[in-house]
Amino acid sequence: MSEPLYLRPHHALCIRFFVGKGYSEEFVRHMTAVVEKLQRDDPVVTLAGGCDVICEKCPHNRGGACDTSDKVRAIDDRALSAMELHVGDTLRWHDLYRRAYDRIIGCSRLTEVCRDCQWLYLCEK
Ligand code: SF4
Repeated sequence: MSEPLYLRPHHALCIRFFVGKGYSEEFVRHMTAVVEKLQRDDPVVTLAGGCDVICEKCPHNRGGACDTSDKVRAIDDRALSAMELHVGDTLRWHDLYRRAYDRIIGCSRLTEVCRDCQWLYLCEK
């Protein structure tokens, strides 16, 4: 059996709006590969309460903990609440992707859920 694929809840939002911008070139290369794999293979993902597969190559990842964790945890909590999901839940990637759209983006809650994120201006375009 393969390893669980962990994903922070708010990354279901980041992925939809990803346009090749990010914290470093390595981060962008890695995130591009993760997004391609998710969209192609539609794997089962496990919602993470901490760093996930996208955080792996992020310069903010300090030994498995995000150095902006207060901010990103709050965004994760708001995303979970809006999607009515919990850390540890498992679901197919495309179900999570659709749920993020139906419960957050499609009902104009992105600005509220992602407030304080430095990248929000890109997603609101
Ligand atoms: S900023 Fe934090 S939550 Fe976002 S990708 Fe980097 S380590 Fe992960």
